[in-house]
Amino acid sequence: MEYTNIFYVLASVLFILGIKKLSHPKTARHGNFLAFIGMLIAIAVTLLSYGELDFKIIAIGMIIGAMIGATFAIKVEMTQMPQMVAIFNGFGGGASALVAAAEFLKGGEITSFTLGTIVLSIFVGTLTFSGSFIAFGKLQGFISGQPIVFPGQKILNALMAISLIFIGMKVVQFPTEMNFFYAVIAISAIIGITLTIPIGGADMPVVISLLNSYSGVAAAATGFVLMNNGLIIAGALVGASGLILTNIMCKGMNRSLTNVIFGAVGLEQESSGDGEAKQISVKSYSTEEAAMIFDAADKVIVVPGYGLAVAQAQHAVREVAELLESKGKKVLYAIHPVAGRMPGHMNVLLAEANIPYEQLKDLDEINPEFEDCDVALVLGANDVVNPAARHDTSSPIYGMPILDVDKSRTVIINKRTMNTGFAGIQNELFGFDNSIMVFGDAKDMLQQLLKDLKEL
Ligand code: NDP
Repeated sequence: MEYTNIFYVLASVLFILGIKKLSHPKTARHGNFLAFIGMLIAIAVTLLSYGELDFKIIAIGMIIGAMIGATFAIKVEMTQMPQMVAIFNGFGGGASALVAAAEFLKGGEITSFTLGTIVLSIFVGTLTFSGSFIAFGKLQGFISGQPIVFPGQKILNALMAISLIFIGMKVVQFPTEMNFFYAVIAISAIIGITLTIPIGGADMPVVISLLNSYSGVAAAATGFVLMNNGLIIAGALVGASGLILTNIMCKGMNRSLTNVIFGAVGLEQESSGDGEAKQISVKSYSTEEAAMIFDAADKVIVVPGYGLAVAQAQHAVREVAELLESKGKKVLYAIHPVAGRMPGHMNVLLAEANIPYEQLKDLDEINPEFEDCDVALVLGANDVVNPAARHDTSSPIYGMPILDVDKSRTVIINKRTMNTGFAGIQNELFGFDNSIMVFGDAKDMLQQLLKDLKEL
């Protein structure tokens, strides 16, 4: 088709506008829609530009793929979103590798440049596929969330990387030698696994975001294989945005990317955490007693965490906040960048309950507010309010910026038990003098609190 590239530029503009709009909850839906239209244009133009195609097979593939994707997207629990993203990344990388492999297997005259991009695409795509599968398994629980390490692991990885470069060059030199080609696929798949298994479950979100970036790089490489400008641009956008998100998440945990990938963080944490668990003595209050504390407060900061998402208590928290506001109290929400189980998890959750965006404050903005706060209400959050991050150099979360809830006059913490959070470590905050525990499911607790507040 003569005007293919013009449509690819149009699609790319829509992708970029879409990403821009995704950066704010208010415009995110519209952004998603724009990017969807961009992708529709890109797919339609690509299909039309090939002229004679077997549309029946393509349609069957699209219908089956759309059905699987839609079923998963509808059924997935909000708390399982990272797993879903992991699978999508994996399939994205796998698809790029398959397309590149198909180009290779088609045979005929292939230039050295194209052979090089085929090797790159197969390497990054296959690594993304196998790495994402491990990340999915770690989050889903059928692979241990603990870092899996063995002696000589890094040396083995380095050796595999070197041999991959060597064999990759052989593919370019001797494209008819199929064994080199198969070796590239096998080694890439193994590297994906060995790079991901030493990473602890708590770091998985960062890895998933990195794998997302890799899937973009694989797509861009495949774009070069096919000389398809739309794919090159879309792949580069995914690659770059995945990298930016990875960087934001590393900053949120105060970790370097090298530390996340090679640090095997989380290895010893479980044993030391359990030991401390028994020593914390806590004050447990009923919702009725908690209601009286709220009644006397002027400023309340709500700290949502993963447990709020599990309990689906976002509407209940809004009702409690609205009641407190109607009594003349100021209510704010503290959003930690890695609260919950996916980037932006808390924003999405609270936006769903129509909580005004102006009340959602990020870490830097809200931390100074705790000092003159009467009650910090911690709802199903644990790691993101753990003061060990400030002073305990042996803690796996040491250095992670946390929400300074302990600086409030009173901290009311709601969770169901004394179980640990995602990082698997105990939280000394629960035993602080100004801390009070109100045990129970977040939704049930908030509903009861609402009743008690009304009865005051
Ligand atoms: P945590 O995982 O640290 O703690 C959640 C707490 O919620 C648990 O202690 C649990 O205690 C409690 N809880 C669970 N269900 C309920 C319920 N129904 N009602 C009330 N409480 C409940 O959560 P945070 O949000 O504080 O921290 C997020 C952690 O997840 C960090 O370690 C982060 O690195 C990691 N992570 C972040 C991702 C992201 O992108 N945001 C993605 C993946 C991981 P109990 O069982 O006793 O109720």
